[in-house]
Amino acid sequence: MMASVELLVQDGMVVSMDYTLRLDDGEIIDASDGTPLDFLQGAGQIIPGLEREIYGMKVGDARQIVVAPADGYGDVDTDAFQLVPLSLFPPTMELTPGLALQMRDQNGQVLPVVVAEIRPDGVLLDFNHPLAGETLHFDIEIVGLRPATGEELSHGHAHGAGHNH
Ligand code: ZN
Repeated sequence: MMASVELLVQDGMVVSMDYTLRLDDGEIIDASDGTPLDFLQGAGQIIPGLEREIYGMKVGDARQIVVAPADGYGDVDTDAFQLVPLSLFPPTMELTPGLALQMRDQNGQVLPVVVAEIRPDGVLLDFNHPLAGETLHFDIEIVGLRPATGEELSHGHAHGAGHNH
């Protein structure tokens, strides 16, 4: 009799996953599009609500997973708004509410921000993650599984396409 052994998603495995991400209204906002996402399970490389739900899955398994904001990109933080002077923006820039921008803070870190409001005394910027407050609807399929290398385990992330160091 032939024995058959299959790997399961568990901590210390590198998972390759195809996914489509939709919002409540069905709009697709992200998808792997034939290039699976590789990550180290248990290392917090993906959002907690997704990582928690895929334990025990094997290659070929597909599921729908709904992730509440608290297990995704968080709830909208009303303190994460900041009024900045108009002089910070290039005079030619046409500022409109909803405009997505990048800002560099004093430490050189790049932050994505969204223009929330134009006021006479400045521009109100929203520093929340663009997906804060959103319920996320994932369609996922596990397309690859392998044990992580010692180097990957010590780095806390998967190596592979575009990520070798
Ligand atoms: Zn590394």
